[in-house]
Amino acid sequence: MVSTTPKRAQPAPPASSTVENYLKQLFRQQRANGNGMVSMGSLAAAMGVAPGTATSMAKSLAESGLARYAPRTGVRLSPAGEQLALHVIRRHRLVELFLVKVLQLDWSVVDDEAERLEHTISDRVLERMDALLDFPTADPHGDPIPSAGGRLHEPRRLSLANCPLGAPQRIARVLDQDPNFLQFVERVELVPGAVVTVVSRLIAAGAVQLQRARREPISLGLPAAGSILVEPRQVAGNTSRSQPRRERKNLS
Ligand SMILES: [Zn+2]
Repeated sequence: MVSTTPKRAQPAPPASSTVENYLKQLFRQQRANGNGMVSMGSLAAAMGVAPGTATSMAKSLAESGLARYAPRTGVRLSPAGEQLALHVIRRHRLVELFLVKVLQLDWSVVDDEAERLEHTISDRVLERMDALLDFPTADPHGDPIPSAGGRLHEPRRLSLANCPLGAPQRIARVLDQDPNFLQFVERVELVPGAVVTVVSRLIAAGAVQLQRARREPISLGLPAAGSILVEPRQVAGNTSRSQPRRERKNLS
């Protein structure tokens, strides 16, 4: 990266935390459906509201230029809405990392905390956190942090359920962020940065066998294995700065 001052995200129009949560949700659903329109039904279900409530929010987002709304088809973010969503995601992920690295909170509880702080933290505090954390590219779960200019680099990755057998893999990201699952993942040391090798998969039994350094082999169910994303160990290091949690030595 060139060391010029990062281009600022578009000046964020003041948005309520409800609006920000809708923007984040729309962003998530658009990513999942290949950038298409999001139906009112799936938006309402994800937000836990009645379809009518989601529809009036979609209309009001469209009125403020943050989304395009088409009756009976759905809603999708406008470029301005997308920038704002990315800024909220940036705040969320930087705050999570700050809570884990600086305040030493457990990674299984920071999502909840960041959910609240992401709506209140100022840009000044956020950029200070970013610098203090040495401009990280991923949060404690391995989720990529959008840049200050609103770019999100999200490489396609295989998981423990479909990566090559017998080749060391570095854990890059844990998708299932249920607190119980995160606690389990930490207990068995499958956190981002850890290196594992998939030795076999028994698809019929739905099980994946893993080899870990200096620990006995472990077996995971396929859904759990599918929610842990990996990168080949050889190319790791230049794509991800994630380190096993609580490990504080420098990469160099
Ligand atoms: Zn996260």
